[in-house]
Amino acid sequence: MKNRFYDLNTYFKNIFGHRVHKITVDAGMSCPNRDGTISANGCIYCNASGSGTGFFQKGISVTDQILNARKYVIKRYKAKKFIAYFQSYTNTYAPVDTLKRLYDEALAIEEVAGLSIGTRPDCVNEEILTLLQSYAKNHLIWIEYGLQSVHDATLTLINRGHDFNAFEKAIEATQNRGINICAHIIFGLPGESKKQMIETVKRLSQMRIDGIKFHLLYVIKGTQMDTFFQQGTYQCLTQREYVDTLCEALAYLPENMVIQRLTSDPHPRELIAPQWAMKKKETIELIKKTLEKKDLYQGKYLSKLL
Ligand code: SF4
Repeated sequence: MKNRFYDLNTYFKNIFGHRVHKITVDAGMSCPNRDGTISANGCIYCNASGSGTGFFQKGISVTDQILNARKYVIKRYKAKKFIAYFQSYTNTYAPVDTLKRLYDEALAIEEVAGLSIGTRPDCVNEEILTLLQSYAKNHLIWIEYGLQSVHDATLTLINRGHDFNAFEKAIEATQNRGINICAHIIFGLPGESKKQMIETVKRLSQMRIDGIKFHLLYVIKGTQMDTFFQQGTYQCLTQREYVDTLCEALAYLPENMVIQRLTSDPHPRELIAPQWAMKKKETIELIKKTLEKKDLYQGKYLSKLL
């Protein structure tokens, strides 16, 4: 089966010539959409832990988190280098000195070849981007902006606390600095049709973005989405709907855009619905089979956008 999209492992191999693995880091950050600065409620699908492991709060430093994961990653994936992925909450939401200390700590580990910084588009500024730019001279640097949708009505509904224009501004400020940009989007947001989801992808396709992560909206215990779901006002996507939308979306993306993620990874203890979200491997297989069956591949529909 030929590779019909540009996956992360292939990208790392092209850059480094060998397997590289991302190690997730919890740097004890917060989020302005949770701490009351923008809102105290968070995005409606976000649980209070902000996808965090809580390691930092338990006193496990950035260095120890990476060193603890290193052994497993070397054994399991035969990786020789790592990217420190600052994932939990908003990893540019701190004074630049604090950020520098945390990022430097990760980069001080010999096998760490770069950083991937997960954040919100309204949480970067010139100082922070200049810091990341300075690392980009000798390391692979990615910034991952949570966008979720290009539709402002959806962003308001999900309480993102920023609009699409904030994302456009962040992209413009980040480009031409040697920093790679990844956008996170979610399929299955409340009220969004397949057409709207595809519109999000088409728009991103034209923004000179280097990578994308696709997420499925799943319902987590105790979130506002949980309330909507229990009230019957929200229906999850079926696996088939998700797969078909994703396969079509891939065809609108440039061939050199790195597909960093095809679906989400809910925690089994927290998941309410859909239950198929737990079958990540099966979903990825179905995506690959569907691409084959429909003869779809990344870039196939690009000319339709011109
Ligand atoms: S921006 Fe991220 S951490 Fe903050 S509330 Fe939204 S999903 Fe949660």
